[in-house]
Amino acid sequence: MRLLLATPPMTQLNTPYPATAYLTGFLRQHAAALNLTVTQADPALLLFLRLFSRAGLSRVAETLTARARAGAASGRSGPRMPPPPASIARFLAEPGRYVAVVEPTIRFLQGRDPALALRIVGRSYLPEGPRFAHLASPPGTDDDALPDASLTWAFGALGTTEQARYLASLFVDDVADVLREGIDPHFQLSRYGERLAASAPTFDPLALALAAPPTLVDEALEAITAELLETHRPDVVGLSVPFPGNVYGAFRMAQTIRRLSPHTRLILGGGWVNTELRTLREPRVFDFFDYVTLDDGERPLLNLLTRLSGGDAPLVRTYVREAAAVVLRHDRTQHDIPTRETGVPTYDGLPLDRYVSVFEMLNPMHRLWSDGRWNKLTVAHGCYWKKCSFCDISLDYIGRYEQTATDVLIRRIRAMVEETGQTGFHLVDEAAPPAALRALAERLIAEDLHITWWGNIRFEKAFTPDLCHLLARAGCVAISGGLEVASDRLLTLMQKGVTVSQVARVTRAFTDAGIMVHAYLMYGFPTQTVQETVDSLERVRQLFEAGCIQSAYWHRFAATAHAPIGLHPERFGITLRPLPEITFAHNDLEFDDPVDPTGADRDRLRHGLEKALYNYMHGLGLEEDVRTWFEDRPPSGPRGASRPRSQRGAKKQAVPPAKVPRDLIARALAGEG
Ligand code: SF4
Repeated sequence: MRLLLATPPMTQLNTPYPATAYLTGFLRQHAAALNLTVTQADPALLLFLRLFSRAGLSRVAETLTARARAGAASGRSGPRMPPPPASIARFLAEPGRYVAVVEPTIRFLQGRDPALALRIVGRSYLPEGPRFAHLASPPGTDDDALPDASLTWAFGALGTTEQARYLASLFVDDVADVLREGIDPHFQLSRYGERLAASAPTFDPLALALAAPPTLVDEALEAITAELLETHRPDVVGLSVPFPGNVYGAFRMAQTIRRLSPHTRLILGGGWVNTELRTLREPRVFDFFDYVTLDDGERPLLNLLTRLSGGDAPLVRTYVREAAAVVLRHDRTQHDIPTRETGVPTYDGLPLDRYVSVFEMLNPMHRLWSDGRWNKLTVAHGCYWKKCSFCDISLDYIGRYEQTATDVLIRRIRAMVEETGQTGFHLVDEAAPPAALRALAERLIAEDLHITWWGNIRFEKAFTPDLCHLLARAGCVAISGGLEVASDRLLTLMQKGVTVSQVARVTRAFTDAGIMVHAYLMYGFPTQTVQETVDSLERVRQLFEAGCIQSAYWHRFAATAHAPIGLHPERFGITLRPLPEITFAHNDLEFDDPVDPTGADRDRLRHGLEKALYNYMHGLGLEEDVRTWFEDRPPSGPRGASRPRSQRGAKKQAVPPAKVPRDLIARALAGEG
């Protein structure tokens, strides 16, 4: 039996999503027993490369040019057509130039043609569309353009190659805008048709989109799927959908596989399924897929493949359609595979030299996510804390904690370095446990194993200065963790188990050890007032100023169905709005918060919070009163940069002053908080 595992479009471009690598490594241990051949593919990457090619862009140019001509002709005899969006107008001004540079530029972003950097930084090689516009205006200014061909303000000490990668990434963004605005409204670089699937109570919008005539993007995906069938001739295809932005692509692929290879069995699984399809009742899903599996794929797939190869094994967490009804088959006597037995992830079959490192310059941690090739490693399944009220702790991927033994981790690290030739590791844990990180670091040092790694943690006391230095010596270069609302009252309410003072000391310990720190921030938490949000920003300002954190991102709080807040909203002072009947996806919940009944405060504060962070990450505006960022001004540019108040005329104050002492974090670092 031949099994093909694949990640449908779209997902990140710089490195393979780990699910198929994990499952391929696991299932190959059982290949002989099941007479199974397991291969994997990354149609997300393949689709990107197909579109961002000479042939792909030529077709886009032909389609848009023909449409523009038809529009001009009809405009002469009837009402005038509205002008095209700026991205398309720019593209159609010089389509041949876009077509000519696209493949060299992608090769450059794949790291296969470094010499091109010198041409790109000259600023005459790439056609520059709307995504380049902000380069005329440094952060700290408003709309007044200050052209600076050397881009010193933007790049600081970055070398030529990195400058060129940033410019090439803007070119990719421009072309992606052309595709979305001119060819297929569902297309984005890292997601495809996301809105059709995210918390969609019914299958209807997705069914409608799948029944629509294919766009150029759909046709490219169809061709890729046909080629994969031709190459792998699979009896079974397993599609892993980590996010809502992979769902439309998965169903489009399944549609093609059903048509071209009706005997092939289709399995759907992955993070989105595990989160959003827990109450699936929609039989039409099974027009596309034969099986839908929940949670970790190892056990359900092993049992399913055993059955499909003629053996006897009960189904585990597997939806099937029986007599037009959706039924979840789950044999409770079956256990999940312990982490020790899940094997070594393998990237065998994936084109590792074709991944594309786009360069997200503005947020240092986002750069790590989108830049470079990272082997993926899991130190522990689930979260050892599993208490945060906004987190999906009732789901298996958070709630079932199991640590991986250090010797197993070391074996996997050695095997992946050997296979890929690459020594970068992203620990994909929800929150890597400090004791396990210490044990791993000690072994890496003891065995003189040189890797570079980063991952997600909780900012807890166990990360002492000594431990942070040990982690740095073992190759840790960056960590991220949740500071969330940056308010002790709300951190207690959300059961985060940390205080702001503690976060200050822990993050400073990491920074002092030379490890970059990224903080996840949150606003709009139930009962959070405007005053508390302003105070949170003041604490964040001080953390940047004190050198505790170098990178951060504000998330707007969202209530979800599997988190304590979604399960027990009354404990958090909010009321959930009634839901429509749900037969398909279920996750996000709308709610009413008496503190901000219309959500207007959250909307009003968002831009100021983002603007402040943007500037702080550039080292700007740290001395300013935080009210500055909430002034009633329109955004100053595509990246939302804005000049601090002292450099321009004062505007009306939209928020109250912060009530936090200006030396709060300094005192915490001195051990007084
Ligand atoms: S938010 Fe992070 S620390 Fe909290 S329960 Fe979830 S995974 Fe664990």
